[in-house]
Amino acid sequence: MTKPADRVSDVWGERTPYAVGGRWPSRPDMELDEGLEPEDVDTWVTSACLLCSNGCGLNIAVKDGRMVGVRGLVEDRVNHGRLGPKGLFGWRGQRVGRLTQPLVREAGRLVETSWEDAMGRVVTASRRLLEEKGPLSHAFYTSGQLMTEDYYTVAVVGKAGIGTPHMDGNTRLCTATAAASLKESFGTDGQPGSYADLDHCDALFSFGHNVAATQTVLWARMLDRLDGADPPRHVTVDPRRTAVAERSEVHLAVHPGTNLALLNGLTREVVHRGWVDEEYVSAHTQGFEALCATVEPYDPRRVADICGVAAGDMEAAAEVFGTSERVVSTVLQGFYQAHQATASAVGVNNLHLLRGMIGRPGAGILQMNGQPTAQNNRESGADGDLSGFRNWQNEEHVRQLAELWDVDPMAIPHWSDPTHVMQIMRYIEQGSIGFLWVAGTNPAESLPELARAREVLGSESLFLVVNDGYPTETTELADVVLPTALWGERPGTYTNVDRTVHLSDKAVDPPGEARSDLEIWVDYARRMGFTGESGRPIPDWDTYEDAFEAWKECSRGRPCDYSGLSYDLLRRRGGMQWPVTEESPDGTERLYTDGVFNTGHDYCETYGHDLATGGAVTPQAHAAARADGRARLKAVPWTPPPEDPDGSYPLRLTTGRTVHHFHTRTKTGRVGVLAGAAPDGWVEMAAVDADRSGVADGELAVVESVRGQVVVPVRISDIRVGTAFVPFHYGDLDPVPDVDEPPRPASRPRAANELTISMWDPVSKQPTFKSGAVRVRPVRPGEG
Ligand code: SF4
Repeated sequence: MTKPADRVSDVWGERTPYAVGGRWPSRPDMELDEGLEPEDVDTWVTSACLLCSNGCGLNIAVKDGRMVGVRGLVEDRVNHGRLGPKGLFGWRGQRVGRLTQPLVREAGRLVETSWEDAMGRVVTASRRLLEEKGPLSHAFYTSGQLMTEDYYTVAVVGKAGIGTPHMDGNTRLCTATAAASLKESFGTDGQPGSYADLDHCDALFSFGHNVAATQTVLWARMLDRLDGADPPRHVTVDPRRTAVAERSEVHLAVHPGTNLALLNGLTREVVHRGWVDEEYVSAHTQGFEALCATVEPYDPRRVADICGVAAGDMEAAAEVFGTSERVVSTVLQGFYQAHQATASAVGVNNLHLLRGMIGRPGAGILQMNGQPTAQNNRESGADGDLSGFRNWQNEEHVRQLAELWDVDPMAIPHWSDPTHVMQIMRYIEQGSIGFLWVAGTNPAESLPELARAREVLGSESLFLVVNDGYPTETTELADVVLPTALWGERPGTYTNVDRTVHLSDKAVDPPGEARSDLEIWVDYARRMGFTGESGRPIPDWDTYEDAFEAWKECSRGRPCDYSGLSYDLLRRRGGMQWPVTEESPDGTERLYTDGVFNTGHDYCETYGHDLATGGAVTPQAHAAARADGRARLKAVPWTPPPEDPDGSYPLRLTTGRTVHHFHTRTKTGRVGVLAGAAPDGWVEMAAVDADRSGVADGELAVVESVRGQVVVPVRISDIRVGTAFVPFHYGDLDPVPDVDEPPRPASRPRAANELTISMWDPVSKQPTFKSGAVRVRPVRPGEG
């Protein structure tokens, strides 16, 4: 076993280089409580890491009924034994600072109470609103960290029990664009590629994906290819000089808000220089002529002007894509949380289609997920979509769900796109939504324009229920807080970014009176008396395994088909890639190997959208277009981002992550070694911008937009001039590491979302966190 002596600073661990076509060598990583040796452990429980979308397979070490460590699984297809710093140490955060008893608001304060009282209040408020205002008074906002079984349960409770379309997940903030781009290009959600493509690729493109910080084990695999024989060529698009950019042959440090102009330019180069696989394009795509016409104005000089990069660099990047045989592209928040997000991500899909680089070893697209179970939120329909990647405009798809759930099809809301979280916030503001159930997420820190978000979540007219394992900025605003079991404290399955499904067994009991989210929602549904047409309860399961069996039936015949899986099989085999069916019992490494896509009229998840406006393609227009299994090439012109910098606010804002933390630090902030490695927020800027702003490296500075301000230390870096970066992990509360204490108020404002703007992509509805203008100035006496 590799001892993680300093795996907090040595983030990616020792190198194990390998050559193209080889097998990524194993490297078993392990961390146990001090003084413990592997033979001291009572049980090693099947699981996978739940701290990013990589989904590294591991065992949880249990001694005397307590979680005491983890070890990476060398046989797991995802990580070959490796774990990053969050995986190695994050579990410790579950042992301190937890919520252990339900809380209710009395005279403005949260006080401890019984489950009976807490659930009674939830049901009373829910019944009153359903009677007074109907189902549209209710909304659910869930997480990217629950289990498939939790998501499917709440999806069924919300859609079939209550009948509300107001359901979303915080996946809206991180992976909605991944889903939208896959649906637009290929007809349904679902990653075409596989991590094994990294073993075969001859070029690697990182589009707005700081993989070295966000999925450290995936970056270790890439580094091992880059350090091995026949390394892939590597191109990075990122305004920051990240560790990923450092290892690139071409680094395109584009202005935030100009990704689409770059993609249009790269596409034009591929077309103009004769690198299109004409046979593939003709047989397997539609829309080629319109695509060429749209990208034609984006010649290298124009793209260079818009993006602020050298024309030669853009041409060099195009040459890498155009002359390589097997390209892997990964895409993440630099594209998803930016202006024209879906159109830019679709641009990456277009490049692969034009080159015929999809569905074969080494030629893969990974429209990355941010959170570990984001994929399951999307699959199950907890994000508002219809479960099993079904199409809300397709009556047969709705009928299938109605049959599964024992309700009339008209009971399932399907008259429009589901309501995304920013619209849910607006409906609360307007008073039509009066009941919001938040689970496993912290919108009072993670939504854009926090001043407004806090006001909405704290409004008198809203009954706010929050399921969480910890006190957060959001539980502080709740009417009822329900303490939940976390990872390893209840069973469940989840799916990583390359469709690998893992089972995580229950290893230990949850603390105090905490219960699982599934248990809570089933209890709510029973108290509400939700039943189907034949009198069957909704949902008609009580346990995780039964929920999984129900989900398997829901997924049967759909792209995310789990019907060939079982808890036992996952225990025996470890992670497997969906679809797993009778016909493909070992799972499926790659989608679209035959060039047939999910765009058929009766099968697709969406009929598509205008990427510029978000306007939906009608069923009639889709049927007339006869995609019939061909992928859709789509493009729109670049437009300037909103709120461009000006004399008053001269810097473009971009927000993002740091390697040692996950989201709002509810877990990682409670682990001493992780909190110690990244204790505070900061603003990163170029030296010339710091000079102009009158601030110096290491000094506290005020960063302000028209919406709010933060006070954080300055870090001078190689970030492109005119850009300011602020990490989004830090909020108004500071978790206390390693001791069982509640979080403490932070001494100054630090939440990046005090600065961000309430805008979103027209198709994916993902907020554009990476936009807006800010200024940086010295702290005045009395501030900070
Ligand atoms: S890469 Fe992600 S899934 Fe793997 S150990 Fe690190 S945080 Fe966990």
